[in-house]
Amino acid sequence: MKKVSPVFPAFVLAAWCAAAALPLPAQEQRAFEHIEMYCPSHFGNTYEVFGENEMREALATLKEYGCQWYSDWFDMECCADLATNKLNAFSTVLWQNIRMHYRLAREMGLKTALIIAPNWTYYDQCRGEWKAAEGDRIYGKQLICPSIPEARQAILNNYDRLFSDLARDGTTLDALLFGAYDWGGCACEKCHPWIRTFIILVRDIYEVGKKYFPDLKCNISGWWWKPEEHQMVADWVDENAPGMVDTCFLHIPYGSTGPADVRLPKGTKRGAFVHIGYSRNDQPDEYGQFGPIAAGSRIQTTINNLRESGADRIVCYSEGVYDDLNKAIVCGLAGGKFDSFETIAADYAAKWFGTDEETSRRWGAWLTAWENPLDVDTDASGAALAELLESTPNQSQDNWRLWQWVERQKLYQINREILAGGDDWTEERLALVDQFWAQREKIHRKIWGIGVPVYIFHPEFCKMPWYDSWAARRRTVKEQAAEPEER
Ligand SMILES: [Zn+2]
Repeated sequence: MKKVSPVFPAFVLAAWCAAAALPLPAQEQRAFEHIEMYCPSHFGNTYEVFGENEMREALATLKEYGCQWYSDWFDMECCADLATNKLNAFSTVLWQNIRMHYRLAREMGLKTALIIAPNWTYYDQCRGEWKAAEGDRIYGKQLICPSIPEARQAILNNYDRLFSDLARDGTTLDALLFGAYDWGGCACEKCHPWIRTFIILVRDIYEVGKKYFPDLKCNISGWWWKPEEHQMVADWVDENAPGMVDTCFLHIPYGSTGPADVRLPKGTKRGAFVHIGYSRNDQPDEYGQFGPIAAGSRIQTTINNLRESGADRIVCYSEGVYDDLNKAIVCGLAGGKFDSFETIAADYAAKWFGTDEETSRRWGAWLTAWENPLDVDTDASGAALAELLESTPNQSQDNWRLWQWVERQKLYQINREILAGGDDWTEERLALVDQFWAQREKIHRKIWGIGVPVYIFHPEFCKMPWYDSWAARRRTVKEQAAEPEER
């Protein structure tokens, strides 16, 4: 199954090619100029289902970690046009929640950006004659063609509505961040080349935004762009809208630790889009499918590479509370307050688990070892965890930061037993898989309380190594059990 999901996640490279973390001198590093956390409210993830108090706590914590900017997007998937729908429609409720997030972020003094996938739109605007053509890196059922004048106007009207709602709430947007792909694009003849159509549409939406927010900045994300597309955008901007693009957040492919060197428009600042929601792209731990994650080494190498290359602006892509430790790590390193992910992980334990210095250090080592989840010796990590818990004061029931790791340890213990049980589906091994799903459900529902079961939480989106074999056996058993007329 192709791993895709907006905005702008999954492009999987075959090989894991992260370099080893570079040792740094223990001295304060210069802080990055721009540290933004992009927290999309979609997929039934924690941001989408959070209540107001939970969101306030999440934002306050982000600020403590050193984050300066908050951004969200209004994912119109399964949403009806706000201008025509009824009060109780999903889109209305979702948009109200996102407006609440922005209001809280502003109250806390965070700067705010809105992520925009320009031609991704409401399902009831996807009329047959407006549909975008699919093509290279262009797919998704809710894309319309911006070269059709009425469709283009609908897009501009949609954003006028979003901007006016935010302005009416008293939310001042500081920036828009536009992505061309995942999801976005139209492969029709009129839109070709898409990247040029895209940047002209960016200019038009940006003009609408400036009516409401005169100081608004226009940023772009290079997610999935080819170098020649950067060249084309740079040429167009320099000729037609010089100075329009404040910052370009460049694409770092899965498994890589830095962006390609591409041409940007004159005066555009160099930044990067840093995915903190996975540890290693050759192991199945994305989106919180299998519990919380740690990616200290990869993030540290990335931040070091960016700092050395002068790209001191980042938008971090987060998909929920499961990457909370990575948020602390990326903000702590980019903010210049810490010089190693190990120190941050120890500080994290002291802050949230209430542990003394020595126990915090051991907790930090335990947490960050999960960067290679399938390699963890779960017997040894289980024994170490039991010892750590004996010296961990903050074991209140609602300390989800602690319990999500305890429950992940149990999940991987079961997984290791499944993997160690050979290839045959014995009754014992099948029972272990049942335990595995029950444990995963416990993390999702009892620890995180995530909601709508959208596709990224489908068991086939991220798979454990035994999944295909198990699913095939289950299908065979079902077929054998079915009456002939039911087949
Ligand atoms: Zn088109």
